[in-house]
Amino acid sequence: MSTALVLGGGLAGLLAAAALGPYVRTVTVVEQDVLPGGPHPRRGLPQGDFSHILFGGGADALDALLPGTVEALLAAGAHRRRLPSGLLMRLGPGWLQGFDSTAYLIACSRHLLDHTVRQQLRGQAAVTIREGTSVLGLVGDAGQVGGALVENPDGSRESLPADLVVDATGRRSQAPRWLRALGFDGPREETVDAGLAYAARLFDAPGGNRDFPVVSILPVPGRRRPGRGATIIPIENDRWIITLSGTRAGEPSRTESEFHTFLRTLDHPVVHDLARTARPIGPIRTCHGTLNRRRSYENGAPAGFAATGDAVAALNPVYGHGMAVAAQCAVAIRTALDTEGLHPQVGAAIQQRITRVLDTPWSMAKEQDRGFPGARSSHPATGGPATRLTRWYTDRLLRAALTDPTAAAAYFDVFSLAAPAARLTAPSVALAALRPRRADPLTVTEAIARFSRVAELVGPGRPPGQA
Ligand SMILES: Cc1cc2nc3c(=O)[nH]c(=O)nc-3n(C[C@H](O)[C@H](O)[C@H](O)COP(=O)(O)OP(=O)(O)OC[C@H]3O[C@@H](n4cnc5c(N)ncnc54)[C@H](O)[C@@H]3O)c2cc1C
Repeated sequence: MSTALVLGGGLAGLLAAAALGPYVRTVTVVEQDVLPGGPHPRRGLPQGDFSHILFGGGADALDALLPGTVEALLAAGAHRRRLPSGLLMRLGPGWLQGFDSTAYLIACSRHLLDHTVRQQLRGQAAVTIREGTSVLGLVGDAGQVGGALVENPDGSRESLPADLVVDATGRRSQAPRWLRALGFDGPREETVDAGLAYAARLFDAPGGNRDFPVVSILPVPGRRRPGRGATIIPIENDRWIITLSGTRAGEPSRTESEFHTFLRTLDHPVVHDLARTARPIGPIRTCHGTLNRRRSYENGAPAGFAATGDAVAALNPVYGHGMAVAAQCAVAIRTALDTEGLHPQVGAAIQQRITRVLDTPWSMAKEQDRGFPGARSSHPATGGPATRLTRWYTDRLLRAALTDPTAAAAYFDVFSLAAPAARLTAPSVALAALRPRRADPLTVTEAIARFSRVAELVGPGRPPGQA
């Protein structure tokens, strides 16, 4: 095999190309947009204006594929925050303590992240990006995909042959339709939709972002009302992205007054109080269509085809896992090529490995989202004893993470996709989850006092509304 085509030049596509580069003669990335020369918005990435954190498991994968990328991001103004010590977060029943662990996240704009990855990819001689070129369909038959039909910027159509085609066209991927046109039954699909919507706005960070935490009030499932939450993500150029999220019947809107009312009426108004200290830049943007959708290509696809990133599993973005998954899928592609060699069935080998990457984030997103009122699932929840036991244990572990460093480290290792889910049931972690609690979670005043920058803005002596 010597020619690979990657459909889509978003994060999953670029990283798939980085993974394939060393193993094939040429990798061509086909991208419908003309890609910007800097960290700027583009049409094919409508989510790019919304906050995007990259969890440590994804950042490690990014660096494994394109060494030095995380350093380049930090040099360009991205922030690295340890977990949970760099978070001012309300997690279910309480506020997190400043426990330290090896887990971390990278915070910057999505535009900076994609731009940096494009820069890093430049060194790969085998990789070419065909910009302004749209994929119209696949070429081949029900047994073998042999390339893609594309439309060039001048409107001409062309068939690009390839030994391996990797679909990375994201959440709106048309690959099931394209495969059906070749006579192949599309993949099975599972969806869970909590109806979550986002409203986000950029702000100038008062006094800069040095030592400023990621601030987060998470939507809580399992109540009889919609889940509602908000985050402040410190990004490059001393800005914040403030994002509101609400599940079905609790969606935030685009209007200024409702933006602030939404924030003020959360479980705690700390994001509201901080937002009032900051100068907004630009409009409030909203985003709907955040359902979790997984396509089971691992149960069968023609030879010469694989799918990665959102094209195979689009996850509710509120959990912040999509980019880390895209990076880990690319590592899976590289491992498949490395261990299996280049044979006609390598697409299936890739898909099997990608499935293993997806299982944990998919289960977390699906199970959480089913707990919100009005959530819609394509497949009924099993609800059996094993599911109930898992929910009960997870709940215990979350509560323990508020007061116990062992439980907190395990929770954030797994949530940041840096460790497998089995870490949650290691004996020391199970003990921490199951033994009676010895301490109360932090109060909000104690939690805010951990961060001098936050305390200066909204701490004691600066009560809500007078910040
Ligand atoms: C509002 C929002 C917030 C998010 N926040 C986070 C977060 O905090 N952390 C996180 O990890 N993830 C987050 N995500 C998820 C993240 O955006 C995706 O998981 C990630 O972009 C996946 O990358 P991808 O390359 O698979 O898809 P995309 O980034 O969507 O890229 C797909 C690419 O394919 C191109 N394309 C599509 N169709 C064609 C075609 N026919 N021909 C040629 N090109 C085509 C598009 O132009 C695009 O460049 C968020 C998502 C949303 C919607």
